[in-house]
Amino acid sequence: MVFVQKKKMKDFIEKIKFKYDVYTKSRDNPALLKLTCSYCNHLIIFYQKDGPGLLKRCYLDRILYPKENELLQHLPFNEKVFPNLTCQNCKQIIGYPYLYEKEKRPSFKLVQEKFNSQEISLNF
Ligand SMILES: [Zn+2]
Repeated sequence: MVFVQKKKMKDFIEKIKFKYDVYTKSRDNPALLKLTCSYCNHLIIFYQKDGPGLLKRCYLDRILYPKENELLQHLPFNEKVFPNLTCQNCKQIIGYPYLYEKEKRPSFKLVQEKFNSQEISLNF
């Protein structure tokens, strides 16, 4: 089972194409981040981070994996009723729905001590 998941993940990483749009242009080169739960180490998301600096929020349109979280960007966004970003394994809350006013962009405001992030190289 673990092997199957690892293979799925590797296939996914090999096929990644970053999104290049107005947000990418206004920031800088994108990087692929892997976010894991700080409590149980379960994978939360793979995320395209545009530009440098601390990861404070993750925009829904930059969540690349897993599918159920990637699809969140297509749901109607309302901070009050939108689901939190949680660890599917231990249910710890990783982030809260938050509309980034400056860009009118739905995101999760991340709780820093609830996750670890690691940059993944795309050069194989
Ligand atoms: Zn967890």
